[in-house]
Amino acid sequence: MNEVESVIVVGASAAGINCVRQLRNGGFLGDITLIDKDKNGAYERPPLSKQILMNAETTSKDVALIKDDELVAFNINTQFGACVDQVDPVSRKVTLESGEELSADVIVLATGGEARRLPIEGANLSQVLVLRNYEDAHNLRQRIKPNTRVAVIGGGFIGAETTASLSQSGALVHWLDAVELPMAHLLPEALCEKIVENHCGQGVELVTNCRINKFIEQADGRVSILFDDDTAIDVDAVVMGVGMIPGTPYFSDAIKSQILNETTGGIQVDENQATMFPGIYAAGDVAAVTQPDGSTIRHEHWQSAQYQGERTAASILNEALPPEPVDWFWSDQGDLHIEMAGKILPTKEHLVVRDEGDWPVYFSVVDNRVVGAVSVNNPNAVRAAMRMIKNDVHIEPSQLVDIEVPLRKLMRG
Ligand SMILES: Cc1cc2nc3c(=O)[nH]c(=O)nc-3n(C[C@H](O)[C@H](O)[C@H](O)COP(=O)(O)OP(=O)(O)OC[C@H]3O[C@@H](n4cnc5c(N)ncnc54)[C@H](O)[C@@H]3O)c2cc1C
Repeated sequence: MNEVESVIVVGASAAGINCVRQLRNGGFLGDITLIDKDKNGAYERPPLSKQILMNAETTSKDVALIKDDELVAFNINTQFGACVDQVDPVSRKVTLESGEELSADVIVLATGGEARRLPIEGANLSQVLVLRNYEDAHNLRQRIKPNTRVAVIGGGFIGAETTASLSQSGALVHWLDAVELPMAHLLPEALCEKIVENHCGQGVELVTNCRINKFIEQADGRVSILFDDDTAIDVDAVVMGVGMIPGTPYFSDAIKSQILNETTGGIQVDENQATMFPGIYAAGDVAAVTQPDGSTIRHEHWQSAQYQGERTAASILNEALPPEPVDWFWSDQGDLHIEMAGKILPTKEHLVVRDEGDWPVYFSVVDNRVVGAVSVNNPNAVRAAMRMIKNDVHIEPSQLVDIEVPLRKLMRG
């Protein structure tokens, strides 16, 4: 490709902002246009299920991803509140909903995704909400008064965080999950039990193994959730925290069949974040990346989106790619700060538990090598584990278990 003189970045969130920052920090002097359909501009998404639900005064500006004057100093042409309707990867042209057409040498698609809605009768009622953008969080927070009844559907991190935050804000929360134990698909079972116990101890009503039949609006504006065992719960609002769908409606069907990864629905990229179309890149939650073992996944966390944004900028600038970080993720659930690194393996034979303080630290160990870890209110333990993973150190599980051996001593092997 000839020298790049102009870049359009669609999506002003973790991946998009980090990309434009790195482009300018890397010396790119050409035109940068940053487009986002969200009129609130560039803000952090993680606080949507935390600070914003716990404090009605928090605005999108309080959780801004980049300051307005930094955007000006970087000479970035922003179009916030402008939805991209079509992307033609061959002519490298985007068409906005307004009909305006823009083209550039390079287009970076950092469009994340939309919150998934369960296909249940009544799911389109105005009391049935999701949580993906600032408007969603603000709308939900405005409904919360002491003793407002809310049902949160979903036993993943978003469901757990929303449950804990709303409960701290004085709502009476029913936490609904289709399986026996929330988060058990993400964390070791014993740890999930302890976390869930903590939430229930603070007044959360847990309903597990439930199947929702429909939502029915009552005359007083409340919603009845009807279950298939003929029981019902009446609430003021429902929040669906049941995952996301990558957001790529701007491609024609013909392009979709070429550019999207079938398994994940994301935009397939190579190790440079480049798609099969020259000059078209994708980064963050929307990107489908191939792992060293050949499998393809879409990451759905902040650190990875940031990193992919940075890697995209390096690729555009034709620079060496930044070193890949050890995967790291956090979840704040009320008074619990959970951190995870690497791969948390569900199998018991790989689990090593270190009884440190109130919350044990769980390590996943394969062939005497730490491959993952999770801690609660103990970020130093996960920091140490990240060093162990990065340095690929040989560790006997007995050393990890021995609380007389400081973790930092094990980081270097
Ligand atoms: C409520 C919530 C809490 C979270 N908490 C955590 C956490 O605690 N820890 C953690 O690690 N991760 C967390 N995450 C995940 C993390 O926020 C995401 O992984 C990260 O934001 C992904 O960044 P992204 O830039 O890829 O996409 P997104 O953040 O999804 O941003 C995509 C942007 O593209 C824009 N866009 C989409 N389509 C178009 C279009 N057609 N035209 C114009 N603009 C468009 C959207 O408006 C949006 O601003 C959370 C996510 C949510 C929703």
